[in-house]
Amino acid sequence: MDALAVEGVWRYYGDYPALRDIHLTTEPGTCLALIGRNGAGKTTLLRTIAGFARPMKGKVLILGREPRDPETRRDIGFLGHGIALYEELSALENLMLFARLYGIADPRGRALEWLEKTGLERVRDGLVREFSRGMRQRLAVGRAFLHEPQVLLLDEPFTALDDRAIAVLQRLLREARERGRTMILSTHQLREALELASHVALLNRGRVAFHGACTAEMVADPGLVYARYGEG
Ligand code: ATP
Repeated sequence: MDALAVEGVWRYYGDYPALRDIHLTTEPGTCLALIGRNGAGKTTLLRTIAGFARPMKGKVLILGREPRDPETRRDIGFLGHGIALYEELSALENLMLFARLYGIADPRGRALEWLEKTGLERVRDGLVREFSRGMRQRLAVGRAFLHEPQVLLLDEPFTALDDRAIAVLQRLLREARERGRTMILSTHQLREALELASHVALLNRGRVAFHGACTAEMVADPGLVYARYGEG
């Protein structure tokens, strides 16, 4: 079964079609780099895949089920621009809360494990509102990975992160790939995604202009995909 199937998806903002008849399928274990210029539709597509926005035509299936199916929620980890954390709770309380929402058997144990993995165990009882930007970012990464989802959806995951958060995220993504998780990550720059990506999809004004394996040729010259398939 496909990890992800996007079948003829359209989505409009008013009259403007931000996604035009998108078809994309990925097998489990794929790391897909979703590239495209500003406004190409990357964020809209990731949010539609995650079930935060509904397709106006077509459908999305994650492991054969609708994104909004409660079973599917446990299979998806989403890391976006907004950091979805509770300011008035501690780091530990935040992760325990999400662990409970996901129905994890030992919420405290799981939360402590991810605080350790994100380098936040020493500040676990500190309130998020007192955290630095980098600490919040690492906690948001922990939140996205905590329930060990099959499918990770990451919107420009490296752009706003500080160096330490980038290092944490890169390590976690490598581990997730080794465990056969599926990842779809949007980025402006192919170079930063190439280390992980097995496949590349180029969005161009809401359409898939290219989708295929990430080749050695692309790794050597990340501009190639844009030059060959982009609008120039
Ligand atoms: P970026 O790299 O800048 O994040 P993107 O590839 O993620 O861009 P989207 O954010 O998905 O692109 O936007 C796709 C198109 O839809 C753009 O033309 C954008 O202006 C438009 N758009 C996005 N969100 C909205 C909105 N809430 N209302 C109206 N138009 C929108």
